[in-house]
Amino acid sequence: MTDLPAITIAGASGRMGRMLTATVLAAPDRARLVAVLERPGHPWVGQDLGTVTGGAPLGLTVTDDPLEALAQSQALLDFTSPAATVELSALAAQARAVHVIGTTGLEPHHLAKISAAARHAVVVRAGNMSLGVNLLVRLTQKVAQALDADWDIEIVEAHHRMKVDAPSGTALMLGEAAAEGRGAPLSDLRTPAREGITGARKHGTIGFSAIRGGDVVGEHDVIFAADGERIVLRHLATDRSIFARGALKAALWGQGKKPGEYDMMDVLGL
Ligand code: NAP
Repeated sequence: MTDLPAITIAGASGRMGRMLTATVLAAPDRARLVAVLERPGHPWVGQDLGTVTGGAPLGLTVTDDPLEALAQSQALLDFTSPAATVELSALAAQARAVHVIGTTGLEPHHLAKISAAARHAVVVRAGNMSLGVNLLVRLTQKVAQALDADWDIEIVEAHHRMKVDAPSGTALMLGEAAAEGRGAPLSDLRTPAREGITGARKHGTIGFSAIRGGDVVGEHDVIFAADGERIVLRHLATDRSIFARGALKAALWGQGKKPGEYDMMDVLGL
C-alpha cells in the first residue's frame, strides 16, 4: 500500500485538524497519513498523535518541521491561519505536494503569495469543501442570473462562537456566485456591514450578515427578496466531517494534475 498518496496534516490540534486526521486514518485504502504538524512550542510537538488525542499510540509523532514532513508527502491538508497557510504554500510548492487549503480569511496579499506557489504545484483552495455548499454556489449563480436586480440579495450566515473572521469564506463564495450571476464583480455590488442610520438599501447590491454563537458548525442562507415574494436557498452543516472528506477527495484528485489553482468545483466536476 506504499504507493498510496502520503498525506501531511497542518494544525493537527485544531477543530478541523482533528477531523482531518480522523478522516485520513479512516481511509487506509486511499491514503497514508505520514506527518502531522503543529506550530513550534505547541505542547503536542514531540508527542505521539494517538496519545495526545486520548487514544492508543499510533506511532506518529507530532512535528513542528514542515520541510521534513513535506519532503515525504504528496499532499498537505491545511485548515490553519492565513499566515501559516502562506508559509506552508511556499514549502508545499518546493516539495511539489498538492496543497489543499481550507483556511479562510485570506487577504489579497496572502492570495498573491499562494498564486505564486501555484506556478510550481497544484493548489486546491475553497472556502467550503462540502458537496452541498458547492452545489448551493452553483444554484445561487443560476438564480441570480435568472432574476433581475429588483430582487435584493442578502446572505446570512451563522457559525460557532470561536470563529475569528466574518463574513465566512462560504458566504463570500456565495456572494461571488451571486455577483457573477448579475454579471459584475462582488467588489462592485457588496454593501458594507450595516449599523446605525444606513439609509435605504441601494438597488442591485448584495448584503452580508453574520451570527456568532454556541457550537454552530455552519449555516448559510441566500435570500432573494422582491416585492410580494422571497426565495431562500439554505445549507445547514451539522458535522465538520463533510469538510474533511472534501479535503481528502481534493488531495487525491490533485495527484498528477498540472500545477495551478483549482477549487472544489473542479474537484467535484460541478
Ligand atoms: P482552530 O481550531 O483554531 O485550528 C487552527 C489550527 O491551526 C490550530 O491547531 C492552530 O494551532 C493551527 N495554527 C494556527 N496558526 C498556525 C501557525 N502559524 N503555524 C502552525 N499552525 C498554526 O480553527 P478551525 O475551526 O479548525 O478552522 C481552521 C480554518 O479552517 C479557519 O480558517 C476556518 O474558517 C477554516 N474552515 C474551512 C472550512 C472549509 O471547508 N474550507 C471548514 C471549516 C473551517 P494553535 O492552536 O497553536 O493556534
